[in-house]
Amino acid sequence: MSAIEIIKFPDPILREKSRPVTDVDGLLQGIIDQMVETLYEVPGLGVAAPQVGKSLSLFVYDMTLKEGEKQKLTVLMNPEIVSREGEEIAEEGCLSIPDYWEKVKRSSRILVKGIDRHGKEIRIEAEGLHARLIQHEIDHLNGVLMLDHLSSLKRNILLRKIKKAKKTG
Ligand SMILES: [Zn+2]
Repeated sequence: MSAIEIIKFPDPILREKSRPVTDVDGLLQGIIDQMVETLYEVPGLGVAAPQVGKSLSLFVYDMTLKEGEKQKLTVLMNPEIVSREGEEIAEEGCLSIPDYWEKVKRSSRILVKGIDRHGKEIRIEAEGLHARLIQHEIDHLNGVLMLDHLSSLKRNILLRKIKKAKKTG
């Protein structure tokens, strides 16, 4: 088992709405293990299944990743935001749109429900960066990207940058 390369924008799989997970089987566990391995090799806090080419409602994240603390992995499948409160704007990046950060407005507090890797129902209360990360990953499962939250002016600047980077890289 090894890490998988993160799929980059504008790959069309990033625009697909992912399928809910229905079978918590060995095949699924293999996909999760690969995603976890990928998570700990990339410079990001979370990885959503579409980013590794799987159109499944599943993401993995670890908020402690950047703090040198003990790892605290969360695997969340079929997530649904039950309630949200407040709004905040902060800089955000995406592994599928490398080297780009922009301010995005998100709910400041959310309650999410879903299932863990064994199919057990879980509820997560999150705020601040944690809430932002979950909203970003859930967007991925719906085929929504960070750039969809930007003003058309900022989005056009970003798209031009990506085109340019492709030409020179
Ligand atoms: Zn992302």
